[in-house]
Amino acid sequence: MKIAIDIDGVLLDIIVTYCEIFNKRYGTNHQKKDVTKWDFFKDWNVDEDTAFKIFYEIYADSMNIPFIDENAPEIMKKLNEVYDMDILSARIPEYRSSIKKKLDFHNIRESIQYSELILLHHRPYDIKLKQSYDLYVDDNPSLVEPIKKLKNRTLLLFNQPWNQDIICENNIYRVHNWKEVHQKINEL
Ligand SMILES: [Mg+2]
Repeated sequence: MKIAIDIDGVLLDIIVTYCEIFNKRYGTNHQKKDVTKWDFFKDWNVDEDTAFKIFYEIYADSMNIPFIDENAPEIMKKLNEVYDMDILSARIPEYRSSIKKKLDFHNIRESIQYSELILLHHRPYDIKLKQSYDLYVDDNPSLVEPIKKLKNRTLLLFNQPWNQDIICENNIYRVHNWKEVHQKINEL
C-alpha cells in the first residue's frame, strides 16, 4: 500500500504561525479556531496573492511552526516499515530545504519515517490525486469529493476547523490525531 502524508495541518500547525504573522501585520485578532474555511483569507479581506505571500514567508522559514502530534514520528516509522510512505505536500518545491530541515528537527527523517518528499504547487486543489496513492492522510476538504469517486483510494481526513462540515462516509474517514491514523490504517 502506498501512503501519502500531508505536512501542513497534519504534521505542522502552520495556521497558528499564519495567524500570528497576519495579526501583527494587519492589526487583527484571528485565531486558528476561526479558520473554518479552506479559503479563509477571503473573509479576512485579502486576495489570494496577498494571502499566499504570508504562506511563502513561512515556507521559507518554518522552524517556528508548532508540531501537531509528538506521536507522529514513532507511528510513521512503524508504518514505513510495512507500507510505502511518502510525504506529499502542496508547498512549492522552491522551499524544499526549509521544510526538510524542519522535518528532520522533529525526527521525520527520509528513509526512516518516509521514502520520498514530494512537493507540488497548491493549484488545482486536487493536484495530489494525480499522484497515485492508495491512502492519503490530509486535512484538505477539497480532496473529499474527488476521492469519494475513486473507490480504490482512501482518505483519512485529519480533523481541523476548516473541514468540520465534511461528512465522512465510504472511503473517507475522519481522524483526530496520529494514534487514530495508526489504528485506522491497521483496520483497513
Ligand atoms: Mg494540509
